[in-house]
Amino acid sequence: MTNTTTKYIFVTGGVSSSLGKGIIAASLAKLLQSQGYRTTIQKLDPYINIDPGTLNPYEHGECYVTDDGAETDLDLGHYERFLNVPTSQANNVTTGRIYQSVIDKERRGEFLGKTVQVIPHITDEIKHRIQILGKSGEYDIILTEIGGTVGDIESLPYVEAVRQLKWELGNENALVIHLTLIPYLSAAGELKTKPTQHSVKTLMESGVQADILVCRTEHELNDGIRTKLARFCNVKKESVIQSIDASTIYDVPNMMLEEGLDKVVLNQLQLEAHTPDLTSWNNFTEKLKNPKSDIVIGLIGKYVELQDSYKSILEAFIHAGAANEVRVKVVSIHSEFLDVQNVKLKIENLDGVLVAPGFGERGIEGKIEAIRYVREHNIPFFGICLGMQMAVIEFSRNVLNLHKANSSEMDELTPFPVIDLMEAQKLITKKGGTMRLGSWECNLLENSKVATIYNKNIIHERHRHRYEFNNDFKDQIENSGMLSTGCNPQTGLVEIVEIPSHPWFIGVQYHPEYKSTVANPHPLFLSFIKAALSYKINKQL
Ligand code: GLN
Repeated sequence: MTNTTTKYIFVTGGVSSSLGKGIIAASLAKLLQSQGYRTTIQKLDPYINIDPGTLNPYEHGECYVTDDGAETDLDLGHYERFLNVPTSQANNVTTGRIYQSVIDKERRGEFLGKTVQVIPHITDEIKHRIQILGKSGEYDIILTEIGGTVGDIESLPYVEAVRQLKWELGNENALVIHLTLIPYLSAAGELKTKPTQHSVKTLMESGVQADILVCRTEHELNDGIRTKLARFCNVKKESVIQSIDASTIYDVPNMMLEEGLDKVVLNQLQLEAHTPDLTSWNNFTEKLKNPKSDIVIGLIGKYVELQDSYKSILEAFIHAGAANEVRVKVVSIHSEFLDVQNVKLKIENLDGVLVAPGFGERGIEGKIEAIRYVREHNIPFFGICLGMQMAVIEFSRNVLNLHKANSSEMDELTPFPVIDLMEAQKLITKKGGTMRLGSWECNLLENSKVATIYNKNIIHERHRHRYEFNNDFKDQIENSGMLSTGCNPQTGLVEIVEIPSHPWFIGVQYHPEYKSTVANPHPLFLSFIKAALSYKINKQL
């Protein structure tokens, strides 16, 4: 369906952070997409970093990477997983990036002697960024999620940009959804609307009237509460949407459908509502909820306390598990506390092990011990990025007997830098946006396990790292049984290693998890889960 005017939906948040604006935006977008509307989502983040690439996962969770090499907020991962449409740099903008472009323009003299101010210059830049996707002609509807919570000082320019755009575009072309929390006071046995009233009022102080309220709640909103919210917050009663806690984020689109969120949105935007086609989505959720067996996978990393640090990996397991009709229980294992003494105890009962991506020295010896154990005991092993690099180091140390083999990231003076910095990287001093990033081509070796799994000769996968497999050691490593089965044709860089004599031992330099979606679970995750299941079955025989 093509409309001449692109429609804009803004999603703001109030009362508390972490209410799940990203999931609500992705769920609504899914409902609109499944009614034939070309839809995308963007995230505006009010922090000063240019992008989250330099942020510690403890601060902000995983850094998600797009095909075009943008290091972005993890919500973009949800957008891709729900919509199965790739995002790009245009889908994530931070205050840092906005200010940087305005300041660059000022230095080029483009403001012709004017005083450069938050209004109109910063707000104009925000409006421009919001409309880039809309003007591309590729989308009928753009959803824009504004990070943070209304009332934050740093959110003000964004709210002002929304006010201006709503005014310029008109209510039939732009609407505001405000996501809020309805707390339950157990002592009083009541749901409370006051925080929402205040938050809507805060938004109004900036001249923005919320059109729809999506209310996060742990208990059903009764008719009385809905009437009260509508009356006090100036919205129609059918625009008070309940978002009750769900057992999985993948239930939220159907919950929003039941509440009629798509209908009120389409009605205000003067677009036709159709019956959404959620057949394949519902197939997925059906399988997700009715697994025929279960397996336990160990996720070995150093940010394991924080769920969000490995978000895309956990979601890729959910997609691949559902497709295999298996419930994947992921056990987080902190690599810092793994050693020769306890490795058997922690790993022997697992059905598969994934060694996670990461940076720096902390916890790497534990990862290497774990890899040794799974290699020697034929437990399915999947290494991603740093996980692949550690597999190469483990193999070099314990099979090739290069005992001090290491990555020059961890030990600059190692005599055997089996993982090393490329020449081009050695000259780089700036940290932000300078890794090998985004989509790179990879040729798969004929008859290798990966070629069978992908069922292709050429693949494209997303990267985010500085260090590489050192080709000086390639022959030695291959002759001892670890093969390089994927290479970048332009640079000769090794992208995949596998051990053919092991039931499932694959390490990839790229991040397959970024490309796993509900509609397209990633082939490597599918195959890994299958291998873990056969390992479990064989173990029981
Ligand atoms: N630290 C490693 C590198 O920079 C691996 C990065 C990662 O796992 N994403 O090459």
